[in-house]
Amino acid sequence: MNLHEYQGKEILASFGVRIQRGIVARNAKEAVDAAKQLTQETGTGWHVIKAQVHAGGRGKGGGVKLAKNLKEVEELSGQIIGMNLITPQTSAEGKKVHQVLIAEDVYYPGDSETNEFYMSVLLNRATGRNMVMYSTEGGMDIEEVAEKTPHLIFTEEIDPATGLLPFQARRIAFNLGLSGASFKEMVKFVSALYRAYEESDASLFEINPVLKTSDDKIMAVDAKVSIDDNALYRRKPYAEMRDLREENPIEVEAREVGLNYVDLDGNVGCMVNGAGLAMATMDLIKMAGGEPANFLDVGGTADAKRVEEAFRIILKDPNVKAILINIFGGIVRCDRVAQGVVDAYKNMGDAIQVPIIVRLQGTNAELAKEIIDNSGLAVHSAVQFQEAADKVKEVLG
Ligand code: GDP
Ligand code: MN
Repeated sequence: MNLHEYQGKEILASFGVRIQRGIVARNAKEAVDAAKQLTQETGTGWHVIKAQVHAGGRGKGGGVKLAKNLKEVEELSGQIIGMNLITPQTSAEGKKVHQVLIAEDVYYPGDSETNEFYMSVLLNRATGRNMVMYSTEGGMDIEEVAEKTPHLIFTEEIDPATGLLPFQARRIAFNLGLSGASFKEMVKFVSALYRAYEESDASLFEINPVLKTSDDKIMAVDAKVSIDDNALYRRKPYAEMRDLREENPIEVEAREVGLNYVDLDGNVGCMVNGAGLAMATMDLIKMAGGEPANFLDVGGTADAKRVEEAFRIILKDPNVKAILINIFGGIVRCDRVAQGVVDAYKNMGDAIQVPIIVRLQGTNAELAKEIIDNSGLAVHSAVQFQEAADKVKEVLG
């Protein structure tokens, strides 16, 4: 689950990581009040207005603006709230901005002493260990740095038994070229950051930029935080930070009915039981010249109700030109699934306008095929994997 910048910063602050201070606002009036309060607390007269959407590259898209007085805070917030922000990380339509973060300005004009770094904490899947990834080249696209100057990206692997050790934190500060007060600040910063990552059950903390201010403070100016979905049951306060407006509406609906669904770009909807079979089915669709429109694992209990719910979810995607149902009847019997498909089809009536290919294999597979073939509905049945692929090819023309 992804969080907004302001929520990520809240978590960071709760673990003692220094952040650029800010207050979230939903309209221009709240923005002005927030700016006044920040001026009282921090002494800053200038503020940055930052669009809160789940996408990076907001600066490039015009979603981060500097306001030099309250009038500009009001104007710029008014412009940014409600806009469709298009960044290199959003779709072409962009993302609607519902709220902004009013933050203290931490870059002082003409200041050459400030420095922007990149830092993230994440799992290295190759070694199965967490790592801190960091670079002197902060503030810009880290993908670009990785491509053009990979030697400027460092990693520090962490032993799960010990956590981040002091000498590792010092090595990070050293490699970032720091000394004196800012060196000590960075050691504290990265130690607290790593603790925040571990103790919040996060799968990613990405801070770009980490800023060294002209008075040698180290702080998080941005925060991209993902919390592991499987840990949300024990992280209630974070689970409550979920902003459904930022998520794919079909995926939200699927989650509500307990279906494992991931929206994709293709034209063949898939309904499968078991993640491994779902992956194999997606390969099958590709080999037949189609592109999967989704990943959907209906789980072990594919009764009529569930099949119908899955149909409804798949059909919400206007790109779907065919549906392939590929179910292995182990615990659930194939004839029951077949009956479920037929019942769902009849219940949904006109809602289903695309050809359906059903492959049921396992317990009572022959009976299942009979039920499908005798239903009188425009459903194609297949027994073998290859047969299903050929039928997909056939219906896609
Ligand atoms: P992103 O573009 O979505 O990654 O959003 P960021 O939070 O990283 O902000 C984008 C850029 O805005 C940063 O790289 C900074 O250069 C700039 N920025 C952020 N905070 C301040 C600030 O307090 N003052 C000034 N002048 N610029 C800022
Ligand atoms: Mn950033």
